[in-house]
Amino acid sequence: MFCLVLGVMPAFGGARDANSAPVTLYTHFQQEPAPPLVEAIEDELEAIMSPAGVRFEWYPLSDAGGRVSTQLAVIHFKGECDASGLRSDAGYPGPLGWTHISDGEILPFIDVNCDGLRLFVQRDLIGMPFAKRDEVLGRAIARILAHELYHLLAHTKEHAGKGIAKAAYSVEELLAGTLQFGKKECASLRSHAPRTIGEPSVQGQ
Ligand SMILES: [Zn+2]
Repeated sequence: MFCLVLGVMPAFGGARDANSAPVTLYTHFQQEPAPPLVEAIEDELEAIMSPAGVRFEWYPLSDAGGRVSTQLAVIHFKGECDASGLRSDAGYPGPLGWTHISDGEILPFIDVNCDGLRLFVQRDLIGMPFAKRDEVLGRAIARILAHELYHLLAHTKEHAGKGIAKAAYSVEELLAGTLQFGKKECASLRSHAPRTIGEPSVQGQ
């Protein structure tokens, strides 16, 4: 049902992936997060995007010079991306992430609202074992990031009825063990995946 179905066609999928270029992500955290949380963000984004054949290379924004990329995005993580100091109240913070648009064009600048996400999920997150909270919050952050990257990489402002490309998530979806793209969104990402410079494109076959 989900895009993992594409993973069972290794000859076809593998040939495409061989030509796909990594997407370079430059990250800036307003407040430096704990290493396990960063690891959880990177692992979850890879788990969400690899069925669509999208790979990533991560660098801090402070190390952005002198690199050639087929596709890049700059990610600003706003507020505290931190699973400590949670309270037992909850709130509805508005958008949890957004992608910048200028003259109708989707720009490669993404903001993730970590303060808003904490407020939204903290009442449930605080009920989880302390040792699991970084991982669970990191996964939730990765889902918001994957949603915004979908807009950028699939060149669309549209949303889907389910999965990562939904217009809004529940707390349960953000904190669940898995959340994936639907099959259609996954195929769209795959068809738009950046190609290695100089390699013939197999898109459209
Ligand atoms: Zn959206």
